[in-house]
Amino acid sequence: MHEETRLLHVVTEKQPFRALTGPVHRASTILFPTVDAFLNRHEQFYDSYSYGLYGHPASNDLAAHVAQIEGGSHALIVPSGMAAVATTTLALVKQGDHVLLPDAVYGPTRIFASEFLAKLGVDTTFYDPLAGGDIKGHFTDATRLVWVESPCSYTMEVQDVPAIAKAAHDRGALVAADCTWASPLGFKALDKGADIAVQALSKHVSGHSDVVLGSISMREESLHRQVKDAMRFVGQGVSPDDCYLALRGLGTLALRLEKQTKSALAVAEYLRSRAEVTRVIFPALTDDPGHALWQRDFTGAAGVFSFVLSRGSEAALAAFLENLELFRLGASWGGLHSLVALAQIGAQRTVTNWNAEDHLVRINIGLEHAGDLIEDLAKGLDRYRDAAQAAAE
Ligand SMILES: *Cc1c(COP(=O)(O)O)cnc(C)c1O
Repeated sequence: MHEETRLLHVVTEKQPFRALTGPVHRASTILFPTVDAFLNRHEQFYDSYSYGLYGHPASNDLAAHVAQIEGGSHALIVPSGMAAVATTTLALVKQGDHVLLPDAVYGPTRIFASEFLAKLGVDTTFYDPLAGGDIKGHFTDATRLVWVESPCSYTMEVQDVPAIAKAAHDRGALVAADCTWASPLGFKALDKGADIAVQALSKHVSGHSDVVLGSISMREESLHRQVKDAMRFVGQGVSPDDCYLALRGLGTLALRLEKQTKSALAVAEYLRSRAEVTRVIFPALTDDPGHALWQRDFTGAAGVFSFVLSRGSEAALAAFLENLELFRLGASWGGLHSLVALAQIGAQRTVTNWNAEDHLVRINIGLEHAGDLIEDLAKGLDRYRDAAQAAAE
Protein backbone atom coordinates (compact mmCIF):
# COMPACT_ATOMS: atom_id res chain seq x y z
CA MET A 1 0.00 0.00 0.00
CA HIS A 2 1.32 3.43 -0.89
CA GLU A 3 1.67 6.17 1.67
CA GLU A 4 -0.98 8.36 0.06
CA THR A 5 -3.42 5.47 0.41
CA ARG A 6 -2.33 4.68 3.95
CA LEU A 7 -2.97 8.32 4.92
CA LEU A 8 -6.65 7.74 4.17
CA HIS A 9 -7.02 4.44 5.92
CA VAL A 10 -6.20 5.16 9.51
CA VAL A 11 -6.07 2.17 11.81
CA THR A 12 -8.71 3.09 14.39
CA GLU A 13 -8.31 2.23 18.05
CA LYS A 14 -9.79 -1.19 18.72
CA GLN A 15 -9.75 -0.96 22.52
CA PRO A 16 -13.07 0.22 23.96
CA PHE A 17 -12.86 3.88 24.89
CA ARG A 18 -14.89 5.04 27.85
CA ALA A 19 -15.35 8.57 29.17
CA LEU A 20 -17.93 10.67 30.97
CA THR A 21 -18.54 12.64 27.80
CA GLY A 22 -20.31 11.32 24.73
CA PRO A 23 -18.96 10.88 21.20
CA VAL A 24 -18.66 13.76 18.74
CA HIS A 25 -18.42 12.16 15.31
CA ARG A 26 -18.23 14.63 12.46
CA ALA A 27 -19.74 12.78 9.54
CA SER A 28 -21.66 13.22 6.34
CA THR A 29 -21.15 9.65 5.08
CA ILE A 30 -22.42 6.80 7.23
CA LEU A 31 -21.00 3.36 6.45
CA PHE A 32 -23.00 0.17 5.98
CA PRO A 33 -21.64 -3.34 6.45
CA THR A 34 -23.58 -5.06 3.66
CA VAL A 35 -25.20 -4.36 0.30
CA ASP A 36 -28.56 -5.12 1.85
CA ALA A 37 -28.03 -2.59 4.66
CA PHE A 38 -26.94 0.03 2.12
CA LEU A 39 -29.93 -0.51 -0.15
CA ASN A 40 -32.33 -0.39 2.79
CA ARG A 41 -30.64 2.50 4.60
CA HIS A 42 -33.82 4.58 4.51
CA GLU A 43 -35.31 2.19 7.07
CA GLN A 44 -32.80 3.64 9.50
CA PHE A 45 -33.90 7.21 8.77
CA TYR A 46 -36.25 7.76 11.70
CA ASP A 47 -34.48 6.07 14.58
CA SER A 48 -30.89 5.35 13.60
CA TYR A 49 -28.23 6.62 11.21
CA SER A 50 -28.48 6.84 7.44
CA TYR A 51 -26.74 10.10 6.47
CA GLY A 52 -24.92 12.71 8.56
CA LEU A 53 -27.56 15.33 7.84
CA TYR A 54 -30.25 13.16 9.43
CA GLY A 55 -28.52 12.49 12.73
CA HIS A 56 -25.32 11.29 14.39
CA PRO A 57 -24.39 10.07 17.87
CA ALA A 58 -24.19 13.56 19.41
CA SER A 59 -27.59 14.68 18.07
CA ASN A 60 -29.17 11.39 19.13
CA ASP A 61 -27.65 11.70 22.61
CA LEU A 62 -28.96 15.22 22.97
CA ALA A 63 -32.37 14.22 21.59
CA ALA A 64 -32.61 11.36 24.09
CA HIS A 65 -31.78 13.69 27.00
CA VAL A 66 -34.22 16.37 25.88
CA ALA A 67 -37.02 13.84 25.24
CA GLN A 68 -36.51 12.48 28.71
CA ILE A 69 -36.73 15.81 30.55
CA GLU A 70 -39.67 16.92 28.39
CA GLY A 71 -41.43 13.65 29.26
CA GLY A 72 -41.62 12.71 25.57
CA SER A 73 -40.79 9.51 23.76
CA HIS A 74 -38.99 11.27 20.88
CA ALA A 75 -37.13 14.51 20.28
CA LEU A 76 -35.61 16.03 17.18
CA ILE A 77 -32.71 18.46 17.25
CA VAL A 78 -32.94 21.33 14.75
CA PRO A 79 -30.64 24.24 13.88
CA SER A 80 -32.37 26.84 16.09
CA GLY A 81 -35.36 27.61 18.26
CA MET A 82 -36.88 29.40 15.29
CA ALA A 83 -36.32 26.28 13.17
CA ALA A 84 -38.17 24.30 15.85
CA VAL A 85 -41.20 26.59 15.53
CA ALA A 86 -41.09 26.79 11.73
CA THR A 87 -40.42 23.10 11.06
CA THR A 88 -43.14 21.97 13.46
CA THR A 89 -45.63 24.29 11.80
CA LEU A 90 -44.65 23.38 8.24
CA ALA A 91 -44.85 19.68 9.13
CA LEU A 92 -48.40 19.95 10.43
CA VAL A 93 -50.23 22.43 8.20
CA LYS A 94 -51.11 22.65 4.52
CA GLN A 95 -52.70 25.19 2.22
CA GLY A 96 -56.15 26.20 3.45
CA ASP A 97 -55.41 25.37 7.09
CA HIS A 98 -55.77 27.84 9.95
CA VAL A 99 -53.32 28.40 12.82
CA LEU A 100 -53.83 30.17 16.16
CA LEU A 101 -50.97 32.13 17.71
CA PRO A 102 -50.89 34.08 20.99
CA ASP A 103 -50.74 37.83 20.40
CA ALA A 104 -47.53 38.13 22.42
CA VAL A 105 -45.75 35.26 20.68
CA TYR A 106 -41.98 35.49 20.00
CA GLY A 107 -41.59 38.26 17.39
CA PRO A 108 -39.96 36.22 14.60
CA THR A 109 -42.71 33.57 14.99
CA ARG A 110 -45.29 36.29 14.42
CA ILE A 111 -43.56 37.41 11.22
CA PHE A 112 -43.13 33.79 10.06
CA ALA A 113 -46.90 33.41 10.26
CA SER A 114 -47.96 36.74 8.83
CA GLU A 115 -45.47 36.76 5.97
CA PHE A 116 -44.44 33.19 5.21
CA LEU A 117 -47.44 31.06 6.19
CA ALA A 118 -49.72 33.62 4.55
CA LYS A 119 -47.79 33.16 1.30
CA LEU A 120 -48.37 29.40 1.51
CA GLY A 121 -52.11 29.90 1.90
CA VAL A 122 -52.19 29.21 5.64
CA ASP A 123 -54.26 31.68 7.68
CA THR A 124 -53.30 32.84 11.15
CA THR A 125 -55.45 34.36 13.87
CA PHE A 126 -53.71 36.00 16.82
CA TYR A 127 -55.56 35.41 20.09
CA ASP A 128 -55.40 36.99 23.53
CA PRO A 129 -52.79 34.93 25.42
CA LEU A 130 -55.02 35.11 28.51
CA ALA A 131 -58.04 33.64 26.67
CA GLY A 132 -57.80 30.24 28.36
CA GLY A 133 -60.83 28.11 27.41
CA ASP A 134 -62.44 31.12 25.70
CA ILE A 135 -60.06 30.46 22.82
CA LYS A 136 -62.81 28.15 21.51
CA GLY A 137 -64.48 31.13 19.81
CA HIS A 138 -61.50 31.39 17.45
CA PHE A 139 -61.67 27.89 15.98
CA THR A 140 -62.89 27.30 12.46
CA ASP A 141 -63.28 23.98 10.69
CA ALA A 142 -59.86 24.65 9.17
CA THR A 143 -58.02 25.16 12.48
CA ARG A 144 -55.28 22.58 12.54
CA LEU A 145 -52.70 23.91 14.99
CA VAL A 146 -52.67 26.07 18.11
CA TRP A 147 -49.43 27.48 19.43
CA VAL A 148 -48.98 28.44 23.04
CA GLU A 149 -45.98 30.26 24.43
CA SER A 150 -45.93 30.57 28.18
CA PRO A 151 -44.91 32.97 29.45
CA CYS A 152 -45.11 34.98 26.22
CA SER A 153 -42.17 37.04 24.99
CA TYR A 154 -41.41 40.37 26.73
CA THR A 155 -44.86 40.95 28.26
CA MET A 156 -44.72 37.51 29.90
CA GLU A 157 -48.39 36.53 30.01
CA VAL A 158 -48.77 33.11 31.64
CA GLN A 159 -51.18 31.02 29.58
CA ASP A 160 -53.71 28.46 30.77
CA VAL A 161 -52.18 25.73 28.64
CA PRO A 162 -54.40 22.84 29.88
CA ALA A 163 -57.58 24.83 29.11
CA ILE A 164 -56.33 25.85 25.66
CA ALA A 165 -55.24 22.27 24.92
CA LYS A 166 -58.63 20.94 25.90
CA ALA A 167 -60.41 23.44 23.62
CA ALA A 168 -58.04 22.52 20.75
CA HIS A 169 -58.44 18.78 21.19
CA ASP A 170 -62.23 19.14 21.34
CA ARG A 171 -61.97 20.62 17.84
CA GLY A 172 -59.46 18.06 16.56
CA ALA A 173 -56.56 20.55 16.45
CA LEU A 174 -53.02 19.91 17.64
CA VAL A 175 -51.22 21.98 20.28
CA ALA A 176 -47.57 22.99 20.06
CA ALA A 177 -45.90 24.74 22.99
CA ASP A 178 -42.86 27.01 22.97
CA CYS A 179 -41.99 27.10 26.65
CA THR A 180 -38.35 28.05 26.43
CA TRP A 181 -38.50 30.44 29.41
CA ALA A 182 -38.88 27.83 32.16
CA SER A 183 -36.94 25.17 30.21
CA PRO A 184 -38.31 21.63 30.37
CA LEU A 185 -37.24 21.54 34.02
CA GLY A 186 -39.76 24.19 34.99
CA PHE A 187 -42.66 23.40 32.65
CA LYS A 188 -43.64 19.99 31.29
CA ALA A 189 -45.66 21.07 28.26
CA LEU A 190 -46.50 17.49 27.21
CA ASP A 191 -47.98 16.77 30.65
CA LYS A 192 -50.05 19.96 30.40
CA GLY A 193 -51.77 18.93 27.21
CA ALA A 194 -49.41 19.96 24.40
CA ASP A 195 -48.81 17.44 21.62
CA ILE A 196 -45.45 18.98 20.79
CA ALA A 197 -43.00 20.85 23.02
CA VAL A 198 -40.32 23.01 21.44
CA GLN A 199 -37.30 24.63 23.05
CA ALA A 200 -34.82 27.22 21.90
CA LEU A 201 -31.86 25.23 23.24
CA SER A 202 -29.85 28.37 22.46
CA LYS A 203 -31.23 29.82 25.70
CA HIS A 204 -31.14 28.04 29.06
CA VAL A 205 -30.24 24.54 27.94
CA SER A 206 -26.97 25.35 26.20
CA GLY A 207 -26.68 28.19 28.69
CA HIS A 208 -23.44 29.86 27.59
CA SER A 209 -24.51 32.18 24.73
CA ASP A 210 -22.34 30.26 22.27
CA VAL A 211 -24.73 27.87 20.51
CA VAL A 212 -27.85 28.20 18.39
CA LEU A 213 -30.01 25.04 18.45
CA GLY A 214 -33.60 23.96 18.96
CA SER A 215 -35.56 20.86 19.91
CA ILE A 216 -38.97 19.41 19.09
CA SER A 217 -40.32 16.76 21.48
CA MET A 218 -43.42 14.61 21.31
CA ARG A 219 -45.00 11.36 22.51
CA GLU A 220 -46.70 10.20 19.30
CA GLU A 221 -44.59 8.19 16.87
CA SER A 222 -46.66 9.52 13.95
CA LEU A 223 -45.88 13.13 14.91
CA HIS A 224 -42.20 12.25 15.21
CA ARG A 225 -42.22 10.87 11.69
CA GLN A 226 -44.13 13.81 10.28
CA VAL A 227 -41.74 16.36 11.76
CA LYS A 228 -38.64 14.37 10.85
CA ASP A 229 -39.93 14.15 7.27
CA ALA A 230 -40.30 17.94 7.22
CA MET A 231 -36.70 18.30 8.43
CA ARG A 232 -35.58 16.08 5.56
CA PHE A 233 -37.64 17.97 2.97
CA VAL A 234 -36.06 21.28 3.93
CA GLY A 235 -32.59 19.81 4.45
CA GLN A 236 -32.12 20.50 8.15
CA GLY A 237 -29.28 19.02 10.12
CA VAL A 238 -27.14 20.02 13.10
CA SER A 239 -23.47 20.08 13.98
CA PRO A 240 -22.20 17.45 16.44
CA ASP A 241 -20.04 20.09 18.13
CA ASP A 242 -23.10 22.24 18.82
CA CYS A 243 -24.95 19.22 20.18
CA TYR A 244 -22.00 18.45 22.42
CA LEU A 245 -22.11 21.98 23.85
CA ALA A 246 -25.85 21.74 24.51
CA LEU A 247 -25.33 18.39 26.24
CA ARG A 248 -22.65 19.98 28.39
CA GLY A 249 -25.06 22.78 29.25
CA LEU A 250 -27.72 20.32 30.39
CA GLY A 251 -25.49 19.12 33.20
CA THR A 252 -25.57 22.49 34.96
CA LEU A 253 -29.07 23.58 33.92
CA ALA A 254 -30.72 22.96 37.29
CA LEU A 255 -27.98 24.74 39.22
CA ARG A 256 -27.93 27.72 36.91
CA LEU A 257 -31.70 28.17 36.92
CA GLU A 258 -31.82 27.93 40.70
CA LYS A 259 -29.24 30.67 41.18
CA GLN A 260 -30.58 32.84 38.35
CA THR A 261 -34.13 32.65 39.72
CA LYS A 262 -32.99 33.54 43.24
CA SER A 263 -30.97 36.51 42.03
CA ALA A 264 -33.78 37.60 39.70
CA LEU A 265 -36.24 37.73 42.60
CA ALA A 266 -33.83 39.92 44.57
CA VAL A 267 -33.23 42.23 41.59
CA ALA A 268 -36.98 42.39 40.83
CA GLU A 269 -37.74 43.38 44.43
CA TYR A 270 -35.14 46.10 44.23
CA LEU A 271 -36.53 47.43 40.94
CA ARG A 272 -40.00 47.62 42.49
CA SER A 273 -38.61 49.91 45.18
CA ARG A 274 -37.56 52.46 42.56
CA ALA A 275 -39.85 55.33 41.53
CA GLU A 276 -38.54 55.17 37.94
CA VAL A 277 -39.97 51.64 37.55
CA THR A 278 -43.73 51.59 37.10
CA ARG A 279 -44.17 47.85 36.76
CA VAL A 280 -42.15 44.65 37.10
CA ILE A 281 -43.45 41.67 35.10
CA PHE A 282 -42.22 38.40 36.56
CA PRO A 283 -44.59 35.47 37.15
CA ALA A 284 -42.50 34.22 40.08
CA LEU A 285 -43.47 37.36 42.09
CA THR A 286 -46.45 36.55 44.32
CA ASP A 287 -48.52 39.53 43.15
CA ASP A 288 -47.82 39.14 39.43
CA PRO A 289 -51.06 38.63 37.43
CA GLY A 290 -49.63 35.35 36.11
CA HIS A 291 -48.48 34.04 39.47
CA ALA A 292 -51.47 31.80 40.28
CA LEU A 293 -51.24 29.93 36.96
CA TRP A 294 -47.45 29.80 37.22
CA GLN A 295 -47.75 28.24 40.65
CA ARG A 296 -50.34 25.75 39.45
CA ASP A 297 -48.52 24.59 36.31
CA PHE A 298 -44.81 25.32 36.70
CA THR A 299 -42.18 23.78 38.93
CA GLY A 300 -39.59 26.47 38.36
CA ALA A 301 -38.84 29.90 37.01
CA ALA A 302 -35.84 31.54 35.37
CA GLY A 303 -33.78 34.69 35.64
CA VAL A 304 -35.59 36.42 32.79
CA PHE A 305 -38.18 39.12 33.46
CA SER A 306 -39.30 42.54 32.25
CA PHE A 307 -39.96 45.95 33.72
CA VAL A 308 -41.56 49.14 32.51
CA LEU A 309 -39.95 52.53 33.07
CA SER A 310 -41.75 55.75 33.87
CA ARG A 311 -41.78 58.07 30.85
CA GLY A 312 -38.35 59.29 29.89
CA SER A 313 -36.62 60.44 26.75
CA GLU A 314 -34.50 58.26 24.48
CA ALA A 315 -31.52 60.14 25.91
CA ALA A 316 -32.46 59.14 29.46
CA LEU A 317 -32.85 55.56 28.30
CA ALA A 318 -29.42 55.65 26.68
CA ALA A 319 -27.91 57.15 29.86
CA PHE A 320 -29.34 54.20 31.77
CA LEU A 321 -28.66 51.29 29.43
CA GLU A 322 -25.46 52.26 27.64
CA ASN A 323 -23.43 52.90 30.76
CA LEU A 324 -24.14 49.80 32.77
CA GLU A 325 -21.01 48.04 33.92
CA LEU A 326 -22.22 44.46 34.24
CA PHE A 327 -25.41 44.30 32.20
CA ARG A 328 -24.71 44.31 28.46
CA LEU A 329 -27.21 45.38 25.87
CA GLY A 330 -28.12 42.36 23.75
CA ALA A 331 -30.90 40.06 22.66
CA SER A 332 -31.25 36.38 23.48
CA TRP A 333 -30.97 35.17 27.06
CA GLY A 334 -30.32 32.15 29.25
CA GLY A 335 -26.54 32.54 29.37
CA LEU A 336 -24.10 33.19 32.18
CA HIS A 337 -23.95 36.95 31.66
CA SER A 338 -26.54 39.48 32.69
CA LEU A 339 -28.19 41.29 29.79
CA VAL A 340 -30.70 44.02 29.12
CA ALA A 341 -32.84 44.16 25.99
CA LEU A 342 -35.25 46.84 24.94
CA ALA A 343 -38.62 45.72 23.61
CA GLN A 344 -39.95 47.24 20.43
CA ILE A 345 -43.45 45.97 20.84
CA GLY A 346 -45.18 48.62 18.72
CA ALA A 347 -47.13 46.88 15.94
CA GLN A 348 -46.42 43.43 17.38
CA ARG A 349 -49.68 43.38 19.35
CA THR A 350 -52.99 43.45 17.51
CA VAL A 351 -55.53 42.05 19.97
CA THR A 352 -54.12 43.03 23.36
CA ASN A 353 -53.40 46.49 24.68
CA TRP A 354 -49.88 47.69 24.95
CA ASN A 355 -48.89 51.33 25.16
CA ALA A 356 -46.25 51.58 22.47
CA GLU A 357 -44.64 54.57 24.19
CA ASP A 358 -43.81 52.64 27.35
CA HIS A 359 -40.18 51.61 27.57
CA LEU A 360 -40.13 47.92 28.38
CA VAL A 361 -36.77 46.49 29.38
CA ARG A 362 -36.15 42.75 29.56
CA ILE A 363 -33.52 41.48 31.92
CA ASN A 364 -31.52 38.27 31.78
CA ILE A 365 -29.94 37.60 35.15
CA GLY A 366 -26.62 35.82 34.84
CA LEU A 367 -24.43 34.18 37.44
CA GLU A 368 -22.92 37.38 38.85
CA HIS A 369 -23.54 38.20 42.53
CA ALA A 370 -27.03 39.67 42.92
CA GLY A 371 -25.66 42.53 45.05
CA ASP A 372 -23.35 43.63 42.24
CA LEU A 373 -26.20 43.51 39.75
CA ILE A 374 -28.45 45.62 41.97
CA GLU A 375 -25.68 48.19 42.42
CA ASP A 376 -25.22 48.41 38.65
CA LEU A 377 -28.97 48.94 38.08
CA ALA A 378 -29.19 51.42 40.98
CA LYS A 379 -26.55 53.65 39.37
CA GLY A 380 -28.25 53.25 35.99
CA LEU A 381 -31.65 54.27 37.35
CA ASP A 382 -30.04 57.28 39.05
CA ARG A 383 -28.74 58.30 35.62
CA TYR A 384 -32.19 57.76 34.14
CA ARG A 385 -33.80 59.92 36.85
CA ASP A 386 -31.18 62.67 36.49
CA ALA A 387 -31.43 62.73 32.70
CA ALA A 388 -35.24 62.85 32.85
CA GLN A 389 -35.09 65.68 35.40
CA ALA A 390 -32.54 67.65 33.38
CA ALA A 391 -34.77 67.34 30.31
CA ALA A 392 -37.79 68.60 32.29
CA GLU A 393 -35.95 71.70 33.58
C1 LIG B 1 -35.13 32.80 21.38
C2 LIG B 1 -36.45 32.21 21.20
C3 LIG B 1 -36.74 31.47 20.07
C4 LIG B 1 -35.77 31.31 18.93
O1 LIG B 1 -34.61 30.64 19.30
P1 LIG B 1 -33.30 30.76 18.37
O2 LIG B 1 -32.51 29.58 18.75
O3 LIG B 1 -32.67 32.05 18.74
O4 LIG B 1 -33.77 30.73 16.96
C5 LIG B 1 -37.99 30.91 19.96
N1 LIG B 1 -38.90 31.06 20.93
C6 LIG B 1 -38.67 31.77 22.04
C7 LIG B 1 -39.71 31.89 23.08
C8 LIG B 1 -37.43 32.37 22.21
O5 LIG B 1 -37.20 33.09 23.30
